[in-house]
Amino acid sequence: MEPWQQLLAGGVNRLEELASRFSLDIAKLRPVVEQFPLRINAYYLGLIQEPGDPIWLQVIPDERELEHDGYEDPLNEEGDSPVVNLTKRYPDRTLFYVTSQCPIFCRFCTRKRKVGDAGSVSAETIKAGIEQIKKDKTIRDIVISGGDPLMMQDEQLEWILSELRAIPHVEILRIGSRVPAVLPQRITPKLCGILKKYHPLYINVHFNHPREITPESTLACGMLADAGIPLGNQSVLLKGINDDPDVMKELVQKLLKIRVRPYYIYQADLTDGTGYFRTSLQKGLEIIQSLRGHTSGLAVPHYVIDAPGGGGKIPVFPQTIISMDDEKIVLRNYEGKLFEYPSSSGAAIPEQKSCANL
Ligand SMILES: *Cc1c(COP(=O)(O)O)cnc(C)c1O
Repeated sequence: MEPWQQLLAGGVNRLEELASRFSLDIAKLRPVVEQFPLRINAYYLGLIQEPGDPIWLQVIPDERELEHDGYEDPLNEEGDSPVVNLTKRYPDRTLFYVTSQCPIFCRFCTRKRKVGDAGSVSAETIKAGIEQIKKDKTIRDIVISGGDPLMMQDEQLEWILSELRAIPHVEILRIGSRVPAVLPQRITPKLCGILKKYHPLYINVHFNHPREITPESTLACGMLADAGIPLGNQSVLLKGINDDPDVMKELVQKLLKIRVRPYYIYQADLTDGTGYFRTSLQKGLEIIQSLRGHTSGLAVPHYVIDAPGGGGKIPVFPQTIISMDDEKIVLRNYEGKLFEYPSSSGAAIPEQKSCANL
């Protein structure tokens, strides 16, 4: 077994193992993990400092997961599928679900209806997905997802990458993975050697809290970056975990230091059984406002709502346009000061005055 496989085997996969470490009423959690399994690998388990902390909350099952407070498939991914496990929502790109396995099972998973269920994917669904991508010449960008594609064996992952790379109209490949953040030991020189053969390849990782940035995850991201893979980060806004401007600022600044560019912050999806993680829209906007202008533009992600029913990701912004007419636009800067700018090339240039006069 490789070290990363030992970390998976040596983690917590059963409620009894959880009860031996923490005082929890596991009888109440039994129906929870029957619906959505428990998995905390030994590395991620080691990041927990105390019950209720931002690491604990992401992976410890909770009775509230049984509440029906959302939709089973909030983004209508199954409805937008020409073949099983391929979701085509946009004109030129597609999402491809290739594995049900993950290095941990996040309790807020948007795809908990199928993640962790080995029956949700098979060699046949993967082959059918590849055939569909071959047929559909509009697809130039593939988001390889799951589950977590980096949980596959090297050979299996390489087979999928090589099949997709051989399709002439496929321009870029992307992998969505929590592995660099939550099981960084999986990023081996051999894996990097495989990945770099299939450029242009992008990886979007998923860090939610600055405590996930450790010497191990720093090394993993550095190895991927050294293999020429541009890294982006997708965080989910989660109550009690990262719904705080100071926490998010620390996270995005630390991400840049480990060579990861913040890409998206998601408003938590309306997934059934995840209501206790949801935050207000105001909080998300406040976080973006606390970042834009106050720190490197490179560190500021887009805040997006993935529209229920399959409308796709829609960015939401703190207000910067105060008013606009044929003459001028009035803009608000990061300090809350107002500035005028002519709204067309023919419009008069407003008198230059200090913003305090506006
Ligand atoms: C998120 C997503 C993509 C990729 O979206 P980008 O905004 O290009 O990163 C593609 N397809 C589906 C179904 C998605 O959910």
